[in-house]
Amino acid sequence: MVATVETRADLVNEIPFNIPYSTADDMAYCRAALEDGHLSGDGRFTARATELLAKIIPGTRSLLTTSCTHALELAAILLGLGPGDEVIMPSFTFVSTANAFALRGAVPVFVDIRQETLNVDERKIEEAVTKRTRAIVVVHYGGVGAEMDAIDDIARRNSLTVVEDNAHGLGGLYKGRPLGALGAMASQSFHATKNIQCGEGGALVMTDPGLVIRAEIVREKGTNRTQFRRGEVDKYTWLDLGSSYLPAELLAAVLTAQLEHFEEIQRMRHRIWDAYHEMLKQWATSYDVQTPQPPRHVEHTAHLYHLVLPSADQQQSLIKHLGQLGIKAVSHYVPLHNSPGGATLGRLGGPCPVTEAVSDGLVRLPLYPGLTDAAVERVTEAVTSFFP
Ligand SMILES: *Cc1c(COP(=O)(O)O)cnc(C)c1O
Repeated sequence: MVATVETRADLVNEIPFNIPYSTADDMAYCRAALEDGHLSGDGRFTARATELLAKIIPGTRSLLTTSCTHALELAAILLGLGPGDEVIMPSFTFVSTANAFALRGAVPVFVDIRQETLNVDERKIEEAVTKRTRAIVVVHYGGVGAEMDAIDDIARRNSLTVVEDNAHGLGGLYKGRPLGALGAMASQSFHATKNIQCGEGGALVMTDPGLVIRAEIVREKGTNRTQFRRGEVDKYTWLDLGSSYLPAELLAAVLTAQLEHFEEIQRMRHRIWDAYHEMLKQWATSYDVQTPQPPRHVEHTAHLYHLVLPSADQQQSLIKHLGQLGIKAVSHYVPLHNSPGGATLGRLGGPCPVTEAVSDGLVRLPLYPGLTDAAVERVTEAVTSFFP
């Protein structure tokens, strides 16, 4: 019995890596969805959440999806990609960025990232372009915009489509323009680990209105059911390739509540990010540890706060040191070109030394709206008591 009590006390003192935020309205909206009796997709909460997304990413049309992974799959279908096609992307990203295209038979071609932003190195893209290249997928790591002007220029000169994996970037700006509106399409994630979450969820964001009707069809099992619902056709039928990519209303209800609290959530995240940045600066400089360096022309989203240590040993020692003090810190992506899936389904577009070093050294600190000032202080004290 005594042991149980102690264990609980210990747990209270633990600082987890993430606690998914829940707003005061999540539950009420879920109840409302249940009371509506409409739990399948495309009800009033989906409509409301879609409207809110359009306000955050002006100039775009969105469709809610079951995940960011599915939004990327939808994008790959819309691009008509198939075997032999190549898609350039950073190696330092989540599996889904590549997998969605590999599912169509296309080959992910991995390029290195920039040391300062951990985003795809736009100077390395062109040398990876071949006659088979069809698209460039950018990831705005931590919600820091990638160098889109240069990337657009490469895309235009080589007739490539740009897709943004904007899982980290909701609300971020690049030279004043919203992330998610900088390519033909973008994917959003509302996974429990993201800034805005409904457990599992996502959206496909489109800047080209010409894509919307076909996207609706692909998202509804390849049928024109969405147009049928709007009364535009008398019957719905199978028209095209597709799958079931629309989320249930219960999830859209939670997402609606979250999006209504978007600014408040972002304020809380930025406060913590800024506190880490200020309090860790001196320690990081003394020990040659890299902290985030968002360029002046971007506004990031405070999706994550990371440190890059000089070696894998130091990464593991810091994670262990923080763990002993009850703080859960974690590494991030294993380079895709070094993963068994990436090695068989993709290929290298050039050497990726920065990706490898960053993956070896990177540590992410806890960052979520419920993290108190005292907890932030405890984390920074724990970090600065570590001597790499
Ligand atoms: C989280 C994440 C995804 C996958 O999102 P899901 O909604 O879980 O499918 C894809 N890409 C990046 C960069 C991510 O961080």
